[in-house]
Amino acid sequence: MASNQAISDPIQAAHELKRLFDEHDHAVFFGGAGVSTASGIPDFRSVDGLYHQQFAYPPETMLSHSFYVSHPAEFFDFYRKKMIALGAKPNRAHTKLAELEAAGRLDAVVTQNIDGLHQLAGSKKVWELHGSVHRNICQRCGAVYDAEWICARGHEDEHGIPLCPECGGRIKPDVVLYEESLDQRVLMGAVESIANADMLVIGGTSLVVYPAAGLTQYFRGDTLVIINRDPTPQDHNADVLISCDIAKAFDF
Ligand SMILES: [Zn+2]
Repeated sequence: MASNQAISDPIQAAHELKRLFDEHDHAVFFGGAGVSTASGIPDFRSVDGLYHQQFAYPPETMLSHSFYVSHPAEFFDFYRKKMIALGAKPNRAHTKLAELEAAGRLDAVVTQNIDGLHQLAGSKKVWELHGSVHRNICQRCGAVYDAEWICARGHEDEHGIPLCPECGGRIKPDVVLYEESLDQRVLMGAVESIANADMLVIGGTSLVVYPAAGLTQYFRGDTLVIINRDPTPQDHNADVLISCDIAKAFDF
């Protein structure tokens, strides 16, 4: 079993990450909710004190395909209030990853987040395992609407359910809900990127949700880095373990 290096000091973490990115040509970053919470976006799967006053169902229920079908008004209320974060800005982790890709040191970002912040920061190759709130697709004619359109209102029925102005069809967010499978093209792209990486940096994910957590099995490179506030089930495989704020770790 590999004995790994554990770093909690942000300055030391940034120094070590810079050294490792300088040494590798085909790094891949795999990120989860912690990357977005560092931008002030609350994890929409979490239940806080205000949650129970706002919603009558737990997040696992409201994020399911059957709920989208059976309770569209409640679904879109939750979608607008909890899943879309208009105005959120990329943090240093997002911008540094975009810089590393532009400099030819990072092959791809694989993300479980649906907020589009990696693309907003300038990243080009982003595998969005769970889709994006920035694409909302008419189920009848295929027209695509952005998150601003969903939140702007004025095109919904009397229950607040958005309808396509072109054809009157129902809109479905291009987000993977519970009971739905991942987009196979996206999944295979993520697998290929990870399989070809010489370094894999995992950040802001607890690595417990499958199939995303199983993606690490495809990694064959020489350096695995895990950045997370809390321990993950795969910490024992990491060469470097970083437990500070992820935006600070990428501040180099
Ligand atoms: Zn339509």
